[in-house]
Amino acid sequence: MRKICALCGRETDILIEGLCPDCYRRTHPLASVKREIVGIVRCPSCGAILYKGRWVKDPKIIEKLILESIEYQGKVTSVSIESLGLRHGLNNATVKIRGSVHELINDYDEYVQVKIRYSEELCPRCRDMINEKEKAIIQVRSVIPMDGQLKRIIIDIVRKETIKDERSGFLKIEDAWEGLDIKLSDQGLARSIAYKIHKTIPSRVIESQSVVRGRGDKVITKLSISVVLVPLNRGSIIMYSNKPYYVLAYSQNTIKLMELASKEIVNIKLNDIIKSEISIPNYETKCIENKNSKNLEITIDNDKYVLSGMC
Ligand SMILES: [Zn+2]
Ligand SMILES: [Zn+2]
Repeated sequence: MRKICALCGRETDILIEGLCPDCYRRTHPLASVKREIVGIVRCPSCGAILYKGRWVKDPKIIEKLILESIEYQGKVTSVSIESLGLRHGLNNATVKIRGSVHELINDYDEYVQVKIRYSEELCPRCRDMINEKEKAIIQVRSVIPMDGQLKRIIIDIVRKETIKDERSGFLKIEDAWEGLDIKLSDQGLARSIAYKIHKTIPSRVIESQSVVRGRGDKVITKLSISVVLVPLNRGSIIMYSNKPYYVLAYSQNTIKLMELASKEIVNIKLNDIIKSEISIPNYETKCIENKNSKNLEITIDNDKYVLSGMC
């Protein structure tokens, strides 16, 4: 009797469950991927890989994680990873599987693609080591969003204070929400940087010391310095208590302001500026020359204010 494949209709010597070997192979894959995405998390400091909740320092672990995501249906004689990319985010690995899904079919190669999500994260040991080095943090924030120029001034101060007297102790600067975090291993250096920032830009500085951890009789403390900047100078226009003001001067933690509508001059403590919300409105200034005075014309939305003799 002629043997005909039920799928492709070809005549065949071997018929497996009504199919020729080719069609049987196609409909019965040797391997399939159990998990849609395999997560690989590596510690960038020591190279350990997170495996089943534990950090393992073994380069073979990556291969193990990938191969464990594959389920085999037939008799498999060898498995190897042919290509593997490990960039941050999604990657593909190609796995070559040799074997056969049925005893009547000779061994052949089959390839499966495994999706890999690669990320890096400090393992607890490395995180502890870095935390022990970190003895101080300066958190620089600002009452109005910090622009690139202001950030450069801060970074410049950090650089200059660090190279002064060849001190080492600066670890890193990180962009934080609405500001910068400066991390250091030297508390004295942290204080001198904070003081220098305070001298350069109107600001409020608050220091606090906290115990990070006590280990035996070795107590680790960390110095936190909060620096809140009020980066205003003469000529700045601000909205304060919903009214527009012109900044006249700053001295001794007090900002002298002129209310644009009433021309009333008020002295506001830096702390009160920090506590209330201030903002910079959209405005334009123009200098208008009269016979004997130069007047500053300030336009905010549809309102015009004239400050005589102010430009
Ligand atoms: Zn067939
Ligand atoms: Zn590590």
